[in-house]
Amino acid sequence: MLLFCPTCANILQVEEGPKCLRFSCSTCPYVHNITRRVGSRSYPKRKEVRHSCRTLHHMGNGDCLLNCVRLIIFLISLG
Ligand SMILES: [Zn+2]
Repeated sequence: MLLFCPTCANILQVEEGPKCLRFSCSTCPYVHNITRRVGSRSYPKRKEVRHSCRTLHHMGNGDCLLNCVRLIIFLISLG
């Protein structure tokens, strides 16, 4: 997770302040004390299996069903 300086838009660094950790900018005097937990999570959408099977159909492969099953098993093994 990257935080940016609201003054000059550079990346903020974490440093140890007199009371607690704090975000600081390396090019301007901006400082922000960290008084609570900071974090974020993102959950990217998984790729659809049907899309990959459609690609195999367009390849004109005669063993398309077998390839689709192999592809699904492979994708499941990836988690
Ligand atoms: Zn700055």
